[in-house]
Amino acid sequence: MLPLSKIWDGKKIYQFESIICPVPIIWCFNLMAVFTGHPLYSCRKCRNPVALGDDLLSKSFKAKSGAAYMFSHAMNIVVGAKEDRELITGHFTIANIFCSKCGEEMGWTYVRAYDLRQKYKEGNYILEKAKIMKEY
Ligand SMILES: [Zn+2]
Repeated sequence: MLPLSKIWDGKKIYQFESIICPVPIIWCFNLMAVFTGHPLYSCRKCRNPVALGDDLLSKSFKAKSGAAYMFSHAMNIVVGAKEDRELITGHFTIANIFCSKCGEEMGWTYVRAYDLRQKYKEGNYILEKAKIMKEY
């Protein structure tokens, strides 16, 4: 049985399938998640990876289609034109974001918040739950 420290050692994590897991299996999956950037969220339509579970900030956002998640970073997306919009929480400059592979509208990014209390949203990305799927 390998000591736990060996398993924590960088990319050796990939060997997990061929070694005996020294900790409960659910832990092994968690460890793998830490080192491989999983879970990740991908476009529901074409499975293009668009955000990492690590970058998830909040699940309590609302979009037209229902629930939406806020991420500190998104990838493989195309950012549309900036526009000013009046949202429930105030006045913002936002830009819609689209999947870079299939063009599906995924949500938006906050370019500027005019209300000081909303400044923390600037630079973050909102992805609509209905447009993404979680992958492990
Ligand atoms: Zn897509």
